[in-house]
Amino acid sequence: MCGIVGYYGEQQPKDVIISGLKALEYRGYDSAGVTILEADGFKRVRAEGKLSNLQSKLEAETFSGRLGIGHTRWATHGPPVEKNAHPHLVAGTSIVHNGIVENYADLKEELAALGASFESDTDSELIAHLVSREIAEGKILFDAVLAVLPKLRGAYSVLVINDQHPDEIVAFKNGPPLLFGADAKQVVVASDLQAILPYVQDVVFLEDDEIAHCKGSEVSVFSADGKPLKKKSQHIQWDKELTEKQGFSHFMLKEIYEQPRAVANAIDQHINLETKSIELNRLGFGQGVLDDIERLNFADDLENTNDVLKGIERIFVVACGTSFYAGLVGEYLIERYSKIPVECELGSEFRYRYPVIPENSLVITISQSGETADTLAALRLARDHGAQILSICNVKNSSIDREADGHMYMNAGVEIGVASTKALSSTLGLLTLLAGALAKSRGLLPPEQEQSFVETLLAAPSHMESVLA
Ligand code: GLU
Repeated sequence: MCGIVGYYGEQQPKDVIISGLKALEYRGYDSAGVTILEADGFKRVRAEGKLSNLQSKLEAETFSGRLGIGHTRWATHGPPVEKNAHPHLVAGTSIVHNGIVENYADLKEELAALGASFESDTDSELIAHLVSREIAEGKILFDAVLAVLPKLRGAYSVLVINDQHPDEIVAFKNGPPLLFGADAKQVVVASDLQAILPYVQDVVFLEDDEIAHCKGSEVSVFSADGKPLKKKSQHIQWDKELTEKQGFSHFMLKEIYEQPRAVANAIDQHINLETKSIELNRLGFGQGVLDDIERLNFADDLENTNDVLKGIERIFVVACGTSFYAGLVGEYLIERYSKIPVECELGSEFRYRYPVIPENSLVITISQSGETADTLAALRLARDHGAQILSICNVKNSSIDREADGHMYMNAGVEIGVASTKALSSTLGLLTLLAGALAKSRGLLPPEQEQSFVETLLAAPSHMESVLA
C-alpha cells in the first residue's frame, strides 16, 4: 500500500507532505511526487525511486502556496517511471490515487473516443480526466467529483484539487484507508495516521463511499449521493518516541527487542492475575459494526462473548503474510486445546473460492494494520454468510477492527519494520489465550490446568528477554 498526503493551511504544504510521505516510507514505493498550488498555477514535481530524489528536485524550487497533495506510488498500471508517478494533472485538476480502477480499460476507451490524450499508462490519470471534463462543463469541484463517483469501479482512495478552488481538497475512498485531521489553522488528509498526528491529533476516518469536502480548514463529509453526514472525530495520542529508533540502528532491530513487552501488553488484558485465569470475555461481541471502537461497552458484553465462544463449532483463521503464519500456529493451538476444527487460509484464497462457512462458525481475521485488503474482503464475505468475526489487529479503529464483531488487540505499539516481529509475537500470545479460552468454554481446561497454562504463558515474556539478552 502506498501513501497519500494532502495539506491546506498555514505551514508550507511541501514540508507537511514530505514529512507525511516519509512517515509512510517504510511501506515501500517506487516513485513519488507533489503538486502545490502557486500564485501562477500548479507546480508539480515528481521523481522515480526514493523520496530523497524528489526532495533534491524540490530543493531547486521555492514555494509560497498553501494547498498541495503528494503521493508515493506502488505501480499497478504502467512501469515505475516519472511519467506514471502521481500526482496526475489534467487541465487544472490534479489527483493522487491509491488502489486500482478496475474498469480502467473501458473508461480509457470512452475518454479516448471523446478526444482525450493520455500522458501516463496509469489507471489513475483517468480520474483526473473524468473530473476535469465535469469541471469544463461548468461544475464546481465538489459536484464534479460527485458526478464521477458512479463511474469508478475498484479500490481507491483519492484526493482531488483544482486550480480554480485554491482552498479546497476533495477526498473519497472505497477500500484503502483515508482520514483527515483539521484545526483552525490547517487540514491534513492522508492514508495513514502517522502522516497526520504530528500536526493534528483529532482525526476522522472516512468510510467507503464517503466524500470529504475540505474548504479552508472546515471539512464536511457526505455520502456518495451528496447527503451530508455527521462524523465524530476521535482524539489520538501521539507518541513521538514510539516512532523513533531510540538508539537502535534500524526499526526492525528495535522492534525485535520490544517483543517481550509487546507480548505482555497483549496477554495481560485478558488474564486475571490474582486467580491466574483466562478472562476472555470482554471482546465486545454483540454490539454491531462501530464507527468508533472507543464506544464499545464492555460491561454489557460479558454474556454475549461467553455465549459466542460456547456456540462455536467451526473456526476459520483468515490472514495474509506474516499474520497467516501466526494463524497456522493458531490452528494447531486451538485444535489441540479446544478440539474445535480449524482451517487457516490466506485472505486472497478465501475471498475468491466460494468457501463453505457452516452455521456457528467463527472467522478470526488477523492483520497488523487492520487494512489488509484481501483480509477485509474475506471478513465481509464471511459476515455475509452469517459467521461471527473476531479480529486481531494492532491498529485500533482500523477498517478490519471496526467491521468485526469481537475485537482483540496486539497492543504491540507502532510497527515500522516491514518484516513483522513484535506484532507476530503478540498475535501468538493472543491465539494461545484464545485456544485456552475456547477449551475452557467447553470444560476442557479444568482450573488447575488453566492455572499452569496461564502461568506458562505469563512467563513467556521473561524467557524472551533472556533469549534476546
Ligand atoms: N494504480 C495506480 C498506479 O499504478 C496507483 C497505484 C498505487 O496504489 O500506488 O499508478
